[in-house]
Amino acid sequence: MKQFKAESKRLLDLMINSIYTNKEIFLRELISNASDAIDKLYYNSLTDKKIKVNKKDLCIKLDIDKDNRILTITDNGIGMSKDELENNLGMIAKSGSLQFKEENEKKKDVNIIGQFGVGFYSSFMVSNSVEVISKKYGEEKAYKWVSKGAEGYNITECEKDEYGTTIILKIKDDSEEYNYSEFLDSYSIESLVKKYSDYIRYPIKMNITRRELKKGSDSEYEDVTKEEILNSMIPLWKKDKKKIKDEEYNSFYQSKFYDYEAPLKVIHTSVEGLCSYKSLLFIPSHAPYDYYSKEYEKGLSLYSNGVLIMDKCSDLLPDYFSFVKGIVDSDDLSLNISREILQQDRQLKLISSNVEKKIKSELESMLKDERDKYEEFFKEFGMQLKFGIYNDYGMHKDELKDLILFYSSNDKKQITLKEYVTNMKNNEENIYYACGETISKIDMIPQVEKIKDKGYNILYLTEYVDEFVLKTLTEYDGKKFINVCENNVDLDTDEEKEKLKKINEENKDMFIKMKDILGNEVSEVRFTHRLKNHPVCLVSEGPVSIEMQKVINAMPNDEKINAKIILEINESHPIADKLKKLYDEDKNKFENYTKILYSQSRLIEGLSIDNPTEISNLICELLSK
Ligand code: ADP
Repeated sequence: MKQFKAESKRLLDLMINSIYTNKEIFLRELISNASDAIDKLYYNSLTDKKIKVNKKDLCIKLDIDKDNRILTITDNGIGMSKDELENNLGMIAKSGSLQFKEENEKKKDVNIIGQFGVGFYSSFMVSNSVEVISKKYGEEKAYKWVSKGAEGYNITECEKDEYGTTIILKIKDDSEEYNYSEFLDSYSIESLVKKYSDYIRYPIKMNITRRELKKGSDSEYEDVTKEEILNSMIPLWKKDKKKIKDEEYNSFYQSKFYDYEAPLKVIHTSVEGLCSYKSLLFIPSHAPYDYYSKEYEKGLSLYSNGVLIMDKCSDLLPDYFSFVKGIVDSDDLSLNISREILQQDRQLKLISSNVEKKIKSELESMLKDERDKYEEFFKEFGMQLKFGIYNDYGMHKDELKDLILFYSSNDKKQITLKEYVTNMKNNEENIYYACGETISKIDMIPQVEKIKDKGYNILYLTEYVDEFVLKTLTEYDGKKFINVCENNVDLDTDEEKEKLKKINEENKDMFIKMKDILGNEVSEVRFTHRLKNHPVCLVSEGPVSIEMQKVINAMPNDEKINAKIILEINESHPIADKLKKLYDEDKNKFENYTKILYSQSRLIEGLSIDNPTEISNLICELLSK
């Protein structure tokens, strides 16, 4: 017996012992795999003349053997070779799924089932043993894959006449918690197919016995068994929007895109004109676990008149809307051209530009009419929109600038830039912002306090991309973005400025001495009025802010940059007089005070200090006096 790969084994264990109440989804998963396999074969037959299939024969068959507690799902799709059985079923196929972390085990198992798209393995939620008999199209031999669960699996050669795959499930015995026998009841299976798999484009057939009037009689009944087609086969996107229930959209979305939650928004459109197409798009309610990683692949499924031609057509979505899932179906696309040529296709370009406009306008109306929902959306995918603004040298900034939100100190909630500007008191020229790790940390930044006191609204930037976004935008509606921690924030009156200039002039020598003590760390030391209660702060001068320095230097490259940093001391704080006094009377203490104050200002900024032991000793020395 062969062992499952470690991750698969753990996942299987979870499936087998799952307390997941929604066990019935195994059927939709297996039917969806069967339909995918038929799609593949059918698509190949369109592009490869050697492959001959009759469209009319393509189907999925279900079969129930109540006495032996067996449910069988058969398809005449592409089938699997021995290697494919091994690779597809012996381990989790998706590379992302391998990131199976301990922490996930602790979460509800609902999450795991959804997040990993464990399709096939879900059959172990309802079966004691699973057999997969498959013959790949065009190959001579068939193989059988058998597993009773986590111990392992066997693959042996076997007989099978037709190409395709048969999955044989030995359904578990009923227990106190669960009535597994429902999966052996043709009416329950019929209703499960209607509920989850109605839109599958191939007929799902099953023998069903119904009571019918006996021929020639008007009162006598008999049981008649007939093969019936259980699904309507109309793809959901081709149905009339008004007749589709939310539940249908949700179920389609969840099974097609492996999500355990319903989507946040459904966008169903039908476009007629220069290029006709139907699209069914979804905005997920949460970011997939690999969304902000390289593994994530964007794209929409592309169909030509109901036939899948590409599973993830990335050209249909701009990067900044990469979170959107869905399908596009157009009769105007040719089936018989290669995917590479298709990507250059004029029609496809038209569709993609329409899709983009549609998504944008849906987001705009969500922002306008369903603010809470939009904020939920933004929490999950706002980062992607922000990346969109500063990527490609800001090429798309105008399209996206009204979709981003920042926390506002006045409103105490997320606002748009438009809202900031609309609520400006009068003639204000700038949009103020401050950066930090959290809202509460920004609240404590010395400079923020003073500016808030003067009644200005400040945007709090807590994501590392935020400041890059504003730098890319440079302005909004003619208003410049100003970092309150930068040197050029100027809110003082001329008189105040004059006064400060004088005091700084008087203490020039002291500041030169302080700069000497600190070496190359700062470019200047001076008194300030920009602080209210706090003794010190750092401000930056020039194009690189302290926050940007932090972000850039944290990136894995050799280039380190330094912001031009100025140490400012609150002129109205008692420490100012103390410093002046020490400068005249105790040079040694003065040096220690300077070092401590500078370290404090760095810590406030969230920067580390180079000599923590020295500083800690200096402070202790002061404390013990
Ligand atoms: P997923 O469908 O998400 O890829 P599954 O675990 O459900 O994950 O299936 C793993 C792989 O096994 C599929 O990607 C497919 O290649 C193969 N497979 C599953 N069922 C069938 C089938 N009925 N016919 C052919 N291949 C199949």
